Amino acid sequence: MRNWYVAIGLLAMGLTTQGYALNEKETQLKDFIAAHVEKIKPMEKQQNLAWWEAYTTGNPNAYDRLSELTLQLRRLRSDANEFAFLKNLKASGQVKDPLLARQLVVLYNSYLENQIEPELLRQIVELGTQIEKNFGSFRGSIDGKKVTDNEIKDILKSETDSAKREQAWLASKQVGGAVASDLVRLVKLRNQAAQKLGFDNYHTMSLATAEQDVKDLDKIFNELYELTNKPFAKLKGELDGMLARKYGVAPKELMPWHYHDPFFQETPMVYSLDLDVYYKDKDVRKLAEGFYAGIGLPVDAILANSDLYEKEGKNPHAFCTDIDREGDVRILCNLKNDEYWMETILHELGHGVYDKYLDYDTPYLLRTPAHTLTTEGMAMFFGRLSRNPVWMQETLGLSKAQRAEIERVSGKYMQLKQLIFARWDMVMYYFEKGLYANPDQDLTKLWWDLVEKYQMVRRPPNRTNPDWAAKIHFSTSPCYYHNYMLGEMFASQLHHTVVQKVLGLKSDKNVSYVNQKEAGDFLRDKVFHAGGLYSWNRMIELATGEPLTAKYFVDQFVK
Ligand SMILES: [Zn+2]
Repeated sequence: MRNWYVAIGLLAMGLTTQGYALNEKETQLKDFIAAHVEKIKPMEKQQNLAWWEAYTTGNPNAYDRLSELTLQLRRLRSDANEFAFLKNLKASGQVKDPLLARQLVVLYNSYLENQIEPELLRQIVELGTQIEKNFGSFRGSIDGKKVTDNEIKDILKSETDSAKREQAWLASKQVGGAVASDLVRLVKLRNQAAQKLGFDNYHTMSLATAEQDVKDLDKIFNELYELTNKPFAKLKGELDGMLARKYGVAPKELMPWHYHDPFFQETPMVYSLDLDVYYKDKDVRKLAEGFYAGIGLPVDAILANSDLYEKEGKNPHAFCTDIDREGDVRILCNLKNDEYWMETILHELGHGVYDKYLDYDTPYLLRTPAHTLTTEGMAMFFGRLSRNPVWMQETLGLSKAQRAEIERVSGKYMQLKQLIFARWDMVMYYFEKGLYANPDQDLTKLWWDLVEKYQMVRRPPNRTNPDWAAKIHFSTSPCYYHNYMLGEMFASQLHHTVVQKVLGLKSDKNVSYVNQKEAGDFLRDKVFHAGGLYSWNRMIELATGEPLTAKYFVDQFVK
């Protein structure tokens, strides 16, 4: 099936996309979808507009409208009768038309996650908000003096005295002690909700509504673990050697506070590489616009609707939003001409082109990226270019010598960055899995067992403080963190496919994607146009020839 316009026309005439008459269940579903979309489409647009206004202006009225609309949409999808209707349709096995069947899956999942009893939901939301507030207002202290997160970060970046580093690291973990018992309570409430809906626990339910399965994820993460074990140990050994020299200790005496951030999730700045010098006299907006035009995915219409520079009251971060699934795609940035914002605008426009070049003939419910991990992967695919020596040479007009200079350091840096993140993401994935499976176990022990196994960082002796609870994502974005790593793998798998199958090259040594229209065409036809027509892993298989695998991530970064 390729022509969705024709398919939708057939459905409207009461025929399946193959031209047969719709059966009774299919007709019921078709009518339900029509009524449902008519209700939610304008509401979702208003919600997105409120969100946009809130984040670009900080206007409190916009925030109020946003939470009101979010609540209304949630309420709509919490309707128990409608959920029962969808559940019966699903169980009947009678919805055979692929376009209707796919919409049924999407609808069912969006209702399922909202089927929590109102009283239980209220407790979950309130406790979650309470924890977030405690997080926001908590300040760790060193020798009785309060310190901010930024002060802690600065110490961990530059201090050479091990005792002072230890103090700063300990201060960063104090918040864990302040929120851990509430967090465990929240985990149990979430589990209660999931168990009422027939799941083992909240982790398995969250994965199921996101069309993911613990077994599949275990397999992918285990593959990644095996493939990165030796290379990570080697690179980490080199890194430890450098850090130990810097702090005047033996490598085997290195402790968690000797890395440059509280969780060892980022790359310690040991390889000096200042890419900002190459961007400071350029216009990153223009560079991004020119690049996307060159691959045949112009972004001028996106940029015209976007909010790109710093201003009072505006959110300091960056994001992309699809306002109406009809082409009004916008990004928010706070651009400066440096490497960070070069990466960021390429990243956000990666989300942007995915949304902008969806096939507008697909039904509204399926006119979205296949999954958050696939849109994240697309954004990473483009974001990575800001450090790519070939891309930099062609885009910035650098000399051969300058390119060689960047290559010398950036390869190593990228490898380290990706490996450190991969190993850290494994800790997050397996910890969350264990946390929801048994919140009554010794969680501090579980945390440090995983840190030692995956990050190869030693636990401090006799540690009882709940250090894991200092990671805010467990409260605010539960069971989501693994998607970052899956997105990285998808980006690498796409890179491999485009290099080998689309550009017909043996290696990516000289690949910059600059003016490679074939690459843009491939992404539009195989990834963007597929939208939500298939489950995410089926889409990946159709686009690249195999389901998501860690192999290509390892090929790209672990040579
Ligand atoms: Zn993103």
